[in-house]
Amino acid sequence: MTVLVLGGAGYIGSHAVEMLHAVGYDVAVVDNLVTGHKEALPEVIRFYEGDVRDREFMREVFKKEKHIEGVMHFCAYSLVSESMEKPMKYFDNNVGGCISILEIMQEFNVKHIVFSSTAATFGIPESSPISEKTPQKPINPYGESKLMMEKMMDWQSKATDMTYVALRYFNVAGASDDGHIGEAHNPETHLIPIILQVALGKRDNVTIYGDDYKTPDGTCIRDYIDMEDLIDAHIKALEYLKAGGKSDQFNLGSAHGYSNLEVLNAARKVTGKEIPSKIGPRRPGDPDELVADASKAGHVLKWKAEHGLEHIIEKAWNWHLNHPNGF
Ligand code: UDP
Repeated sequence: MTVLVLGGAGYIGSHAVEMLHAVGYDVAVVDNLVTGHKEALPEVIRFYEGDVRDREFMREVFKKEKHIEGVMHFCAYSLVSESMEKPMKYFDNNVGGCISILEIMQEFNVKHIVFSSTAATFGIPESSPISEKTPQKPINPYGESKLMMEKMMDWQSKATDMTYVALRYFNVAGASDDGHIGEAHNPETHLIPIILQVALGKRDNVTIYGDDYKTPDGTCIRDYIDMEDLIDAHIKALEYLKAGGKSDQFNLGSAHGYSNLEVLNAARKVTGKEIPSKIGPRRPGDPDELVADASKAGHVLKWKAEHGLEHIIEKAWNWHLNHPNGF
């Protein structure tokens, strides 16, 4: 039986492919390679290059892959600031892609899907930590597109016998254990890889966006989740659905928040480098604090984050040292 990984050549998708393959699943991958890297995929994996919005292409994939028991869906645009400038790009790709996938799954009678949602569906939360009961009020098109995907999945699960799990990631970072795949966005916008590019000497310094937030040191607080822990949650979610679990949503984080300055200091410790920094203006749309209450995933999926921030930065640093220019 096959797991079809959509967006399997991307940062998170490629780690899912590797871990699924390592624990014995048969894996096939779809990716349009707009942001993904074919080099991130093991040679043995069956790979289909194309866009999930292209129904004819997707029908061909589902015809060839006769034994799909579940879909993991990672393909989406995910940059908040770009989504503010080009909202239609986000709705077209993220929401449009989701419609196509759900239609094709129904056509081919594929029952289960696990997909990437995000803490960005919560917007500026009224309280912290954020549980599944916290109201979802996105403040940017990226978060809105993911909330629309969650809702579409939900309506489709009510109308058909398809079941889904939405996993709302907080801040994903890290890389594979042996450092042969990792984060390679172009341009890079995320805090940990930018800090590590400074440590490598590829940038002069890192700008911390704002130090006047309502937090103890004034910089934003985020909840970092290790890549391996994140993919473990996907595998547990898929097994949960296969065992007859009902459609549901889970927040995934470590339940521990770190300020941007704490992340910087942890990276200085791990790398042994000075990592020059400066304080800049706030980045629009950044909430003061985003920390997950992940207890529901603990109860229902028997999942919890095993790895802390230093481990995450060590893995990411290993990847950056081995691949200073990405793939
Ligand atoms: N950040 C920063 N400097 C950077 C990149 C990010 O200070 O060069 C901050 C950002 O404002 C936020 C935190 O780091 O407070 C995490 O941002 P990132 O883009 O890594 O993830 P996001 O929370 O947007 O998913």
